[in-house]
Amino acid sequence: MATIIDGKAIAAKLRIEIAADALALTAQGIQPGLAVVLVGEDPASAVYVSMKEKACAAAGIFSDEHKLPADTAEAALLALIHRLNNDSRIHGILVQLPLPGHIDTDKVLEAISPLKDVDGFHPYNVGRLVVGKPLFQPCTPYGVMVMLKESGVSLAGKEVVVVGRSNIVGKPVAFMCLQEHATVTLCHSRTKDLAVHVGRADVVIAAVGKAEMIKGEWIKPGAVVIDVGVNRVGEKKLVGDVEFAAAAERASAITPVPGGVGPMTITMLLYNTVESAKRQAKSEK
Ligand code: NDP
Repeated sequence: MATIIDGKAIAAKLRIEIAADALALTAQGIQPGLAVVLVGEDPASAVYVSMKEKACAAAGIFSDEHKLPADTAEAALLALIHRLNNDSRIHGILVQLPLPGHIDTDKVLEAISPLKDVDGFHPYNVGRLVVGKPLFQPCTPYGVMVMLKESGVSLAGKEVVVVGRSNIVGKPVAFMCLQEHATVTLCHSRTKDLAVHVGRADVVIAAVGKAEMIKGEWIKPGAVVIDVGVNRVGEKKLVGDVEFAAAAERASAITPVPGGVGPMTITMLLYNTVESAKRQAKSEK
């Protein structure tokens, strides 16, 4: 049976360190600050934003919330971002996605200063990641890398198969694994023989969004399985992209859903915000 990689425990440990760093910075007169911008009333987005606010409060990070109506003009949102870019109390700016249809998401993300882009979605930060000189790394894939490290999984020379090529999870995690000297295969909806690719992997990272589509019998005995997927089945049950019970019989280590990658995402957002404040503190010395 596989070891369970406990994301909740890893996140809790990291949050204690983040809070200690935030406290030390605050004592130097630089309290880390995160601006969170929510446009509209999407219920899932509202839940994420409130989780982020609570996490900031618990870590001693100043949280600056901007809840704007759904009909906010693009120009008004861009003006707010411009203000936040120039506000020295703010070290990270997060615009909750998705934005309403009349707003150009790319334009908004590119308006955020790359030096405050704690989500790591600005093309500047994407480019830095690709050339192997990351500044801000996107939170979910960054969380995956921290979990692997905390679990003692070294990637050098390993076959990593990533399933899913989104800009927020699949692509960045593939580049992060490459940076750690893995041999990386990036699979997607047009990939032929997915089972064969997955079956070769020493480490499988699943980020698809389809309940249990990766079958336990595909997993190579001894492989490490990281399941980013969160899929609702029925009223209350959440499952990942991997058939957990069957995969756990073959894998050496596996993340559960929930309680795996999920708790790491907000943790890495807090981490990025505090790192940004540290950079400001250094530049002021
Ligand atoms: P996207 O929908 O943006 O991307 C899904 C990817 O899966 C696409 O690249 C798509 O391929 C690929 N895909 C779809 N069907 C198949 C298939 N049959 N075989 C192989 N690949 C396939 O999703 P995200 O990356 O945003 O999210 C993925 C999952 O991770 C979701 O369940 C989401 O909820 C979860 N998630 C969890 C987070 C957390 O904090 N735990 C944070 C972010 C996401 P193609 O490009 O060809 O269409």
